[in-house]
Amino acid sequence: MTSAAASTPTSDRLFDRAQAVIPGGVNSPVRAFRGVGGTPRFMSNGKGSRVTDEDGTSYLDYVMSWGPLILGHAHPDVVQAAIEATRTGSSYGAPTRGEIELAEEIVARVPGVEMVRCVSSGTEAAMSAIRVARGATGRTKVIKFAGHYHGHADSLLVEAGSGVATLALPNSPGVTAGATQDTIVVPWNDTAAVEAAFEEYGDDIAVIACEPVAANMGLVPAQPGLHGFLRQISRDHGALLLVDEVMTGFRLARGGATELLGLEPDLVAFGKVVGGGFPLAAFGGPREVMELLAPVGPVYQAGTLSGNPVAVAAGLTQLRLLDEAAYSRLDQLATRLIDGWTAAFAAAGVPAVIQRVASLFGLYFTSSPVTDFEGARAADHERYAAFFHGMLRQGVYLPPSGYEAMFVSTAHSEEDIDATIAAARTVAATLPGR
Ligand SMILES: *Cc1c(COP(=O)(O)O)cnc(C)c1O
Repeated sequence: MTSAAASTPTSDRLFDRAQAVIPGGVNSPVRAFRGVGGTPRFMSNGKGSRVTDEDGTSYLDYVMSWGPLILGHAHPDVVQAAIEATRTGSSYGAPTRGEIELAEEIVARVPGVEMVRCVSSGTEAAMSAIRVARGATGRTKVIKFAGHYHGHADSLLVEAGSGVATLALPNSPGVTAGATQDTIVVPWNDTAAVEAAFEEYGDDIAVIACEPVAANMGLVPAQPGLHGFLRQISRDHGALLLVDEVMTGFRLARGGATELLGLEPDLVAFGKVVGGGFPLAAFGGPREVMELLAPVGPVYQAGTLSGNPVAVAAGLTQLRLLDEAAYSRLDQLATRLIDGWTAAFAAAGVPAVIQRVASLFGLYFTSSPVTDFEGARAADHERYAAFFHGMLRQGVYLPPSGYEAMFVSTAHSEEDIDATIAAARTVAATLPGR
């Protein structure tokens, strides 16, 4: 490994080239380092807990492809499964055995999910689940929470957390007022606002959509009783409840937040971990709701590469390796890191709040707990940028935005964690404006 303080001539050159032919040089905005400044690192390979960039600099990775790589980069079994599936035929546009096995695995893990449909991205999963909810209820309106991200489908791209927040875009041009007129945005953890929405729009509300734990504005847990409240009020008004587990599914526990927090959603969206690092996502729910989908029911939803055999093989292999031992390992690693960082910031006199649920956590430079999007916005994002670059120089690759959660994998070792704590101690002591 070369020193992480190395300069980045190759990434600089690639970034110039990329910007000529790809908007901003990236295929997804947060990769561009706009929230922290500087040149994004172009990655050339990943192995276990580490990524190496095009300049040959190796980093301990806490992005892990933004969540999917829960077993680390290039896990041998996942790689093997993908290679075998590719060799035997990468796509048929016809059903395959693996799709049943994946659906059975998801159904076995997630309470209340009886049927599953595969799609290719979390965006599609949430968008399709909303369509089913509207089809099921014959209603139009969706309640979503400020700072929750459900992908970039038009109707859901309102106060949508990390990516848009990093770029300080309240909403996106190109999304028409018509597309969002049925979206009601309320603050997270604000039960009175949800009640008010139902009072005003009661019989028009098709679905409440939420992340079970807000993980696209750092990490903001649901306050005690919130999920029970959402379940009850939606049921009372004949609306459905969509829990978007694209981030949390198969990460917080075997059955995701639905299992860990004892939720009773009508619809659940999956992505990220479910695909093992390949483009695969899914949504599911009880039979009577899911059978509204074509070809059984009238709600149309489709995809040329949906349930792609290579992605399914990789995702299924990864899921099967995620047993109770894996989850307790992830929890241990997260605990060790959070304890170490908390001590490091305290020693340096840097006010910092680290919020977590299971192994998922977010860091805010602020002195009080964050309970909603306003709080996440109010944290010191300039200080986060300084911390990010300090850590990068120490060989630690964190999310390039203070609105993102951080990810450990089972491939991280205690030594990795301790090195990351030592790096934070060094960097915390140098942060400006302490
Ligand atoms: C990442 C994410 C999505 C979007 O998934 P993509 O695969 O990026 O389209 C949707 N919902 C949540 C909660 C997410 O974290």
